[in-house]
Amino acid sequence: MTSNPFAIAQAQLDEAASLLHLDKDLHDLLRQPMAEHHVRFPVMMDSGRVKVFSGYRVQYNDARGPCKGGIRFHPEETIDTVRALSAWMTWKTALVDIPLGGGKGGVICNPKDLSRGELERVSRGYIRKIGHLIGPDIDVPAPDVYTTPEIMAWMMDEYETMLGHHAAGVITGKPLFLGGSAGRGDATARGGMFTIREAARVLEIDLSKATVAIQGYGNAGMHAHHLIMEFFGSKVVAVSDSRGGVFCKDGFDPIAVQEFKAKTGSVVGYPGSEPITNEALLELKVDILLPSAMENVITEKNAQNIHAKIVGELANGPTNPEADVILHKNGVFVIPDFLCNAGGVTVSYFEQVQNANFDRWKIEHVHYRLDETMTAAFKSVFDVRHDLNVHSRLAAYVVAVGRVAEACRTRGWALPVEDKPKSKPVPALV
Ligand code: GLU
Repeated sequence: MTSNPFAIAQAQLDEAASLLHLDKDLHDLLRQPMAEHHVRFPVMMDSGRVKVFSGYRVQYNDARGPCKGGIRFHPEETIDTVRALSAWMTWKTALVDIPLGGGKGGVICNPKDLSRGELERVSRGYIRKIGHLIGPDIDVPAPDVYTTPEIMAWMMDEYETMLGHHAAGVITGKPLFLGGSAGRGDATARGGMFTIREAARVLEIDLSKATVAIQGYGNAGMHAHHLIMEFFGSKVVAVSDSRGGVFCKDGFDPIAVQEFKAKTGSVVGYPGSEPITNEALLELKVDILLPSAMENVITEKNAQNIHAKIVGELANGPTNPEADVILHKNGVFVIPDFLCNAGGVTVSYFEQVQNANFDRWKIEHVHYRLDETMTAAFKSVFDVRHDLNVHSRLAAYVVAVGRVAEACRTRGWALPVEDKPKSKPVPALV
């Protein structure tokens, strides 16, 4: 099977399209981005050299509302990754039923090799190229891999400077004092917790006795470590990052691991732990596995060896389609990425609502609305999974694609269901 994420995203859509009996034209519309932009922009480096960077912004589908999705700064960024991620954002916003479409952006760069000044100039340079293509009612970026609230602040400032007026709603995931929302920082992980709680309820798993392995210790993984202990009292026995992982059967304290990583740059070498590779971590005999880093880590090569009862995909695209089938057959309950990690974009949407109304919500209100949204989304997926007897990702696709398809039909971008031509038109007699 291909490891091209966009080919994977299209294959996933194809399966749902066939279950939904989508007509060919609508299926074609949903198979490709509606717009994509490739940009190059010069940046003055500290050395005095002017370096040209490349970036993308893909606006996959806006039938349900303005495009929405993060910007990644990654040395191996490709257009196909951004296309796939923008498709997944389209399904994600539909699944949690917020009035937004899907988009994604990326800049090919390694933030670890950039000074703070260079990072700011890259962020501003990118916005100068895509600024005329985005806006609160058009396309609203947010943080993603290796981009931060501070970067969002620079981007918002650059955009507002281009426009000559304030427009806080152009971007989400901003710092709190610049129009960011309370609760956005841990929203991805917190949203995931609500779906894990619901999954454990239907599977009758006692989370207070559960063991957990977390692959990836960025924003999602690190917050998940804190929250899974705070919410359920589960024991996190393994964590990892891009340099490797650590295991301890007695469990890790999240504050101590976070401090250690802040000091050393990695979880590797944490005192009192045994080393473990990222690959071995995925195959641990734990109750809950949280892939929280990158795409394509659970494939047909290792799916057979996944022992977790629940896989909560806090990362985007960690499991490929072959692995989905194997996991389902083996009774592993997968909470698919665009359900499990939808808390981030849900609180981004709350941020947009607050910005549009010059309002500020209390954290309790954010948490309450996030729980309500995630729980409803979980239920809609679980019902379809049960009714159609399909794996969770396919069920999530059926719900999400069905909603986007309906918005397309209602706009007149596709034929209403009852008007579909039933047979080939009879050729005119001449
Ligand atoms: N980057 C996050 C995601 O993949 C959040 C997107 C957003 O807040 O718009 O869901």
